[in-house]
Amino acid sequence: MDQPESYQKFGEFLAVTWQDGHESLLSQESLRRACPCANCRGEPDLLGRRLMPADKPDLTADSYRLSGLKAVGHYAWQLLWADGHSTGIYTYDYLRRLCDCDICLEKEGSGD
Ligand SMILES: [Zn+2]
Ligand SMILES: [Zn+2]
Repeated sequence: MDQPESYQKFGEFLAVTWQDGHESLLSQESLRRACPCANCRGEPDLLGRRLMPADKPDLTADSYRLSGLKAVGHYAWQLLWADGHSTGIYTYDYLRRLCDCDICLEKEGSGD
């Protein structure tokens, strides 16, 4: 599995350098939109349908501002947002898939 070597907040982006030398420039806005927590995604019910929670909080400018991150085990980061949201656990695998650079898009396209 790809592991991040280092990261740096870079304006509205989070720049991640992976152990294989790849660099991802992930926009904080798209990271927040991709938040995998149950609150943001809605939990799938028994039939696999996703129910969006009724109390989904309104997103503000702070919602898209990363205030920090914590490593979770050796497989994920917990991203902390300026609006106080912090339940999203982003696995490294997931983060890597969020990279939309030309190289990654091409890889995806080739089914590799
Ligand atoms: Zn969330
Ligand atoms: Zn990439």
